[in-house]
Amino acid sequence: MNHSIIEVHNLTFDYPGFRALSDVSFLIPAGSVTALVGPNGAGKTTLLRCIAALETPLSGTVRVAGLDVYESPREVHRLMGYLSDNFGLYSDLTVAQGLEYAARAQGLPTSAVAAAVTSTAERMGLTGKLHHRANTLSRGQRQRLGIGQAIIHAPQVLLLDEPASGLDPEARSALAQVFKALQAQGMSLLVSSHILAELDEYSSHMLALDQGQVLEHRALQTASVTETGQGPERRLRLEFVEQAKAVAPWLRGQWNVRLYRAEEQTLEIGFAGNLSEQSALIATCVASEYHLTSIAAVSENLQQSYLKSLATNRATHATNGTNSSRRSAP
Ligand code: ATP
Repeated sequence: MNHSIIEVHNLTFDYPGFRALSDVSFLIPAGSVTALVGPNGAGKTTLLRCIAALETPLSGTVRVAGLDVYESPREVHRLMGYLSDNFGLYSDLTVAQGLEYAARAQGLPTSAVAAAVTSTAERMGLTGKLHHRANTLSRGQRQRLGIGQAIIHAPQVLLLDEPASGLDPEARSALAQVFKALQAQGMSLLVSSHILAELDEYSSHMLALDQGQVLEHRALQTASVTETGQGPERRLRLEFVEQAKAVAPWLRGQWNVRLYRAEEQTLEIGFAGNLSEQSALIATCVASEYHLTSIAAVSENLQQSYLKSLATNRATHATNGTNSSRRSAP
């Protein structure tokens, strides 16, 4: 993940009389799965449509794999897949026919179509459904067919607008596995979602929009790197018989850890060492004069941190006397 696959600079988009995106800038690292989040009306769909060159902004630039999407939309579409929030399927076509149609629409040579249909069905777990009509599929299977159609031409970048909406927890979890598999195959994904609780299951980054502006854009915990540059940081919760405030200075004297919390008997630390160093850290604690009672990996509560950022942003706007009415296009 060392270069940017999507570069958005100073993007401003107006619907008649309404500013939907205001000076939006961000870079999406290649190979990432970025969750695009934000409240209803934040501008997520508009942003995805702008990146897919389906809308023309008032100002700003969008580059995908180095190509300006407004100067070279056709070239960009060749390396991009896009699934809109209310995508349609031809209900009378079978899965195989739907995939074949998408392959031909994407300009795949005839000789490559059959192999693309087979491999995409396999990737999306639809091999057993190839000869079933779209209108006989479950919602989750329809979603997977939609994604299959969007990736049949093996794009570098995949934009998905709320692909998990309406899916039950099992289907959402299966979809998360699909995202991870596509990422492992080298694809970069930008996925809009309202289901924050599950984001860290499949996302490496979070891009939060609010009122047409970037509220927050960051790597999620598993992908973050500490200032020490040692690598991914894991957050650990250690419980001792003793007061954590007494243990913290000792532990920091032994190991290079970041202190997040020291309350009662609970210590929360960030540790950037590798697994054998983590094992040595635990051994140090066990052998010390303090009494370790448990250790656990802590996963970040994305929902809480997102809601906090949103509340802070709203409060800042209220203090500055700005609110959604400022979104009126000049
Ligand atoms: P949701 O989570 O509800 O899908 P979103 O974040 O995708 O919302 P957008 O659909 O991008 O938001 O809409 C951003 C804003 O632009 C909203 O306030 C919406 O009302 C407005 N908007 C969207 N489409 C149009 C349009 N065609 N004409 C005028 N305003 C529009």
